[in-house]
Amino acid sequence: MLPTAVVLDLPVHLSANYAEFLVQLIAVGNGGHVITINAEMAMLARQEHALSQLISKADLVVPDGAGVVWALQRQGKQVRRCAGVDLVEAVLKKIAQSGKRVYFLGAAPGVAALVAERWSAALPGLEVCGFRDGFFKSQDQENLVAELQTARPDLLLVGLGVPRQEYWIDEMRKYLPSTVFVGVGGSFDIWSGTKERAPKWLRENYLEWLYRLYKEPWRAKRMLALPKFALAVLKGA
Ligand code: UDP
Repeated sequence: MLPTAVVLDLPVHLSANYAEFLVQLIAVGNGGHVITINAEMAMLARQEHALSQLISKADLVVPDGAGVVWALQRQGKQVRRCAGVDLVEAVLKKIAQSGKRVYFLGAAPGVAALVAERWSAALPGLEVCGFRDGFFKSQDQENLVAELQTARPDLLLVGLGVPRQEYWIDEMRKYLPSTVFVGVGGSFDIWSGTKERAPKWLRENYLEWLYRLYKEPWRAKRMLALPKFALAVLKGA
């Protein structure tokens, strides 16, 4: 088990190498739920008890957002940001030759197919066992379960957005007990080239959120969670 810190009553695991931990989790074969947490999600969890419970029982909670890293550093923790998109890239590279099976589920029609194709081309040996867009209806759920049980993924990447992907993963774990699920938000859009990621210098300066706001101004309301998160941390709430 990794050491755990607490940010606004939520656990965040501490590691110098999250990718290696995740590779081990996949190797063990007992399944798991990996959450990459940012300030927005932490604030949502204060309103949605079910979400905070899911985070509390997750097998790995990774500090994805600059705000969460800031809160941890205030506690004197030596930790660096680990964006979900980088984490998964590192893991895919590590498991490419291992025979472990990966399934891509999420994003608009066509995007997951493109992502599967691109990763297969970039990492020969990667066992892609399927892909599916994230706009399925609830009545398709039964077929989807059957499809996933046939595909038997060791790693299931779920890009349905927060918090839908977390609730969906929780519901699915009983059907796929040996699968490790990772909620990847909008990562498929980045891997497919549908959306651009912030330039490296912004990412390295913890300003990826600012770039997203510039590109997607509709995020402004959601991003109000950031100052609220900072205030709550400062108040020690
Ligand atoms: N999405 C989906 N099904 C839905 C709603 C959204 O697959 O019913 C996808 C959407 O296409 C996008 C991702 O979920 O690829 C959400 O991306 P976003 O960057 O908003 O993620 P978040 O900020 O929630 O991590």
